[in-house]
Amino acid sequence: MKIVLENLTKIFPSRNKKSNDEVIAVNNFNFEIPDGKLIGLLGPSGCGKSTTLYMISGLQKPTGGKIYFGEDDVTELSTENRGIGLVFQNYALYPHMTVKQNILFPLQNLKGADKMTKEAMLERAYEVAKLVQIETLMDRKPSELSGGQQQRVAIARALVKMPRVLLLDEPLSNLDARLRLQTREEIRRIQKETGITTIFVTHDQEEAMSISDMIVVMKLGVMQQIGAPQDVYDSPANLFVAKFLGTPPINVFEGRVQGGKLFIGDAAVMDVNSVEDQDVHVGIRPEGFIVDENGPLVCNVSNVEVMGRDVSVVSTHENSENPIIRSIINADERMNVAAETVRYTLKPHKVFLFSKETEERIYF
Ligand code: ADP
Ligand code: MG
Repeated sequence: MKIVLENLTKIFPSRNKKSNDEVIAVNNFNFEIPDGKLIGLLGPSGCGKSTTLYMISGLQKPTGGKIYFGEDDVTELSTENRGIGLVFQNYALYPHMTVKQNILFPLQNLKGADKMTKEAMLERAYEVAKLVQIETLMDRKPSELSGGQQQRVAIARALVKMPRVLLLDEPLSNLDARLRLQTREEIRRIQKETGITTIFVTHDQEEAMSISDMIVVMKLGVMQQIGAPQDVYDSPANLFVAKFLGTPPINVFEGRVQGGKLFIGDAAVMDVNSVEDQDVHVGIRPEGFIVDENGPLVCNVSNVEVMGRDVSVVSTHENSENPIIRSIINADERMNVAAETVRYTLKPHKVFLFSKETEERIYF
C-alpha cells in the first residue's frame, strides 16, 4: 500500500515560556512512498527520522499536514487501527514470556470481527516464525537468545498481524557488525517475500544504500533528496548529501570557476564551460581520480595502501577542506609508491560543484 505524506510537520513546543527554543523536528515533509517498496529514511542523529516514523505510526500527532495510507486519510486514526507493524532499536520483548507467547501476544488482543481461534493464531505465529527463521526457538525466553535472534522475534511480532506497513526504527543498531550485515539482508528478504511497504530508519548510509529501493535523505527536519540509492550517490543535490553518502567519503576542495575553467589553487583541473565565474566547493568521489604524470592536480602523498584489486592513496593538498584526501585507484594503474607527490586528472562525472553560498549543486 502506498503512503502519502503531505506537508507533514512536527513542532515540539518550547518547555520554557520565556525562551523560544521550540524544535521543528519535521518541516513540511512531502513524499509518496510507492506500494511494496523498501524505503530507507536516512540522516544524522536528531534530523527527525524517528519523529517522522512515529507520526506515520500514529504514536505522535503531527502539528500540521496529512498522512494517507492508500486513499485513506489516517492522520487522526489511532495506532491500533492503522495496520502497522513496528520494530525499534531495543527489541522490547516481554522478558517473562517465551518467544511463542511474545509473537502470539498481538493476536490475542484482537477484538470483535478480527478475533482469531487459538489454532489459527498458532498457525500464524509459526508461519511468521518460519519466515524469520526462529521456529526452533519458540519455547525459549528472550534472555536465552542472542541479540540477532531477539530482533528476529521482534520482527516476527511486528509481522504477525499482517500489517499493511512495516516501520523499522534503527533495528540493527544493537547488533555487532557481522550480525548487522546478516540481519539487514534478512530484512530485505522478508520484505521482498511479503511485499509489505516498509520504512527503514537508519543513520548508517551504507545500511540504507544496500537494502533500499529508494532512500530519503534528511537534515534538520528537512528532506534533502529522494531517489534510488545509486542515483543519489551519482548525482547529489547538495553538499550535505554528497558528504553523507559514500565510504570512503567524498573529498571536498575549495575551488573557483574562472573563464570556463575549474581551478583548485592555481591549477586548472577541468573545463566547466557552462558555469559562471564564482567560488565553489569541489566534491570529488574517491574513485574520481586518475593517476597521470601530466595531471593538473598535484597532491602530497602521505600513504599508499595496496588492497589487492584497488590501491588507496592518502594525500594532502592545501585547498582540501578535509584533513586528508582519499582516492581509490585501480591496482593496474602505474603508481610510484615511493613518490612524494602524485598528479591526478579527474573523471568529470565524479566531480560535483556546489555553490559556496548555498551549498546547492551547480550543474555543468
Ligand atoms: P532522529 O530519529 O533522526 O535521531 P528525532 O526524530 O528523534 O531524530 O528528533 C528530531 C528532533 O526533535 C531532535 O532535535 C530532538 O531533540 C527533538 N525531539 C524529539 N522528540 C522530542 C520530544 N518529545 N520533545 C522535544 N523535542 C523532541
Ligand atoms: Mg531516532
